[in-house]
Amino acid sequence: MAVPLLDIHRQYVELKPQMDKAVLDVLEHGRFILGPEVTQLEQQVAELCGVQHGLGVASGTDALLIALRGAGVEPGDEIITSDFSFFASAGIISRLGARPAFVDIEPETYNIDPNLIEAAITPKTKAIIPVHLFGQVADMDPIMEIAHRHNLKVVEDAAQAIGAEYKGRPAGSIGDFGCFSFYPSKNLGGGGDGGMIVTNNDTSDKFCRSLRVHGESPKYFYHTIGYNSRLHTLQAAMLLVKLPHLRQWSEKRIEHAAIYEQAFAGLSDIVTPMVKDYTTFHIYNQYTLASPRREQILTALKEEKIGHCIYYPLPFHRQVCFADLGYQANDFPVSNQAADQVFSIPVYPEMSSEEQQKVIDTITRAVS
Ligand SMILES: *Cc1c(COP(=O)(O)O)cnc(C)c1O
Repeated sequence: MAVPLLDIHRQYVELKPQMDKAVLDVLEHGRFILGPEVTQLEQQVAELCGVQHGLGVASGTDALLIALRGAGVEPGDEIITSDFSFFASAGIISRLGARPAFVDIEPETYNIDPNLIEAAITPKTKAIIPVHLFGQVADMDPIMEIAHRHNLKVVEDAAQAIGAEYKGRPAGSIGDFGCFSFYPSKNLGGGGDGGMIVTNNDTSDKFCRSLRVHGESPKYFYHTIGYNSRLHTLQAAMLLVKLPHLRQWSEKRIEHAAIYEQAFAGLSDIVTPMVKDYTTFHIYNQYTLASPRREQILTALKEEKIGHCIYYPLPFHRQVCFADLGYQANDFPVSNQAADQVFSIPVYPEMSSEEQQKVIDTITRAVS
């Protein structure tokens, strides 16, 4: 029995009649660009986050890019982000002609360490992008406090954290902007690329709304140069079918995580994910273990055909494309150690208990 890291097809089987109907309805009405389903999804995601505005864009990457423009980022500015994340969190900074300033992570959560942020602030710093990695929100209170004191914008990279909560507050609702991804492997995954920005600021919402249509406002008049970046109506239609199930799917992930925690707690050389006191809802987009014996464990997982992945094998400061930023390989020891030791295993909601038991047995055998 092979156990995949994620099996997207099982969600389709569960919702097939509604999904098929939603897609066919769009084909019938034909409003493929910013159709009524996009508006509906924008309202529902804004509501989920308890914020004023939701703005559908073409991807999570574009959500970050457009939100940074909305935050007033210009070429030459410096933007602080975590050294340990998916590439988009940093790539979008450079794409705007700004300079990424990386900060090391906390060992327990793999999220940006708030205690190290102030040392990275310079007169050119414009914004902070905390990433809510693996589905646990970063420690936002100290981050917001630092941002206010230094007059910086905060753009939450909540691509892996839709529906997660920090002290009861939804991911994406705490900073100036929250950015989500509907990439198929995210907790709320579409049938392709998609993303959303949420914000409480009317002016920012209006500006970002014009940026997703080349910067136009009104139609065919351009005060700034924007993008072609809209959430497709077909994606919105599929996501509307899935959204009501999101909470329950994330609760399933939490159940799986609790079973893993119990099974792995006693094992030496295995570090299970730590849930912080401030985390009121962890959505486990990934269940990520760490071990100094990772190679040995991955070999066993491969032999048993169990899906796994290393998120992420190389921190930003050692990526070739960022060599000109001048970081040294041994900068950011915590992030370096995480890159050497982490690996993620199946935690998706539809995983059966037999499948999970096989994962547990395989890992237990590998380290015993
Ligand atoms: C997935 C992801 C993104 C980018 O989202 P896309 O929809 O793939 O463009 C950004 N940041 C993080 C942390 C992600 O996991």
